[in-house]
Amino acid sequence: MIPVTKPFLPPISQYQEYIEGIWKRNWLTNNGPLVNELELKLKDYLNVDNVLFVSNGTIAIQLAIKALGLKEEVITTPFSYVATTSSLVWEGCTPVYVDIDPDTLNIDPKKIEDAITPKTTGILATHCFGNPCDIDSIQKIAKKYHLKVIYDAAHCFATKYQGRSVFEFGDISTTSFHATKLFHTVEGGGVFTNDKGLAEQIAYFRNFGHDGPEQFMGVGINGKNSELHAAMGLVNLGFIDSILVKRKQQTDYYQKILKGLPLKTIKLQDYEGFNYAYFPVVFDSEDITLKAKKILEDNQIFPRRYFYPSLSKLSYVTGKTPVSDDISSRILCLPVYYDLTREEQDLVGRFLYKALSIK
Ligand SMILES: *Cc1c(COP(=O)(O)O)cnc(C)c1O
Repeated sequence: MIPVTKPFLPPISQYQEYIEGIWKRNWLTNNGPLVNELELKLKDYLNVDNVLFVSNGTIAIQLAIKALGLKEEVITTPFSYVATTSSLVWEGCTPVYVDIDPDTLNIDPKKIEDAITPKTTGILATHCFGNPCDIDSIQKIAKKYHLKVIYDAAHCFATKYQGRSVFEFGDISTTSFHATKLFHTVEGGGVFTNDKGLAEQIAYFRNFGHDGPEQFMGVGINGKNSELHAAMGLVNLGFIDSILVKRKQQTDYYQKILKGLPLKTIKLQDYEGFNYAYFPVVFDSEDITLKAKKILEDNQIFPRRYFYPSLSKLSYVTGKTPVSDDISSRILCLPVYYDLTREEQDLVGRFLYKALSIK
């Protein structure tokens, strides 16, 4: 079986070493030494000012929304994982959808100004599939209208934009360290901001608002993560460079074997800084997409319809996003994960040729 993704698992002995330390210290959670070590190492590896390790990528977005005081209308993308939209709704905001650019699959900055109303408080955009948004244009609009910007950078571990970590952009960037992501801590997430005051505020938020054992800064939530999760991150960080190299080789190989097929892949915003997190392909029509999916599945290959449905179609929101609806209906993400072999990629290619009726 070839799944769309498989979590990276390091050698168990390396994880065990950390676990033994945890047992010795008998310190499992609440800002323990491994959580601190992971935050420091991430800061160093990513070259960012402030990192907060939190329980998952969804809580990371919710903490960001809360910390920036977003309310009423927030402009967002219809082409992302459901957590981008659900976090807004959960925090009491109304998502206002701005359609995507059909080539990059990111929010189309040319359409943002038309969606701004006196109730707009911010923009929540996703760097889809690890491909950064047109950040310069978005920041310009945000500045002009005094809007806060959050980037959902869940796909962007190690992605660079103009030579800097993409996590450095916006008022806050968030990411996910879920098991299926390029770098993971089993469950986990990150909040990044250049604003020290905001980082301190979010540190209180993620720990119930505690300011010492008996004092509270204000309302908070439990967004902490554990020593066991941090340990997985610390071990996995040792493999990140080889994970990134593997991803690039696999992408290059797909591009080589799929050349000549009527498939479109994404247009990169910053070619140098891409992390090759996903390999999406856009077919000519939904029928062909579903046919290809079926043929692959019949042969034990499981691509995923990322992202389907388009988020403006969710039952609890409204919005008109024809470009995103169209792309959603005819896109598949092909398998990419650390252990994926060339032979397996050849199989994926062979069945795609078959589906598209090319010998
Ligand atoms: C994975 C993902 C999330 C959610 O992250 P979790 O850690 O699973 O909560 C949010 N946004 C995007 C774009 C994602 O891909």
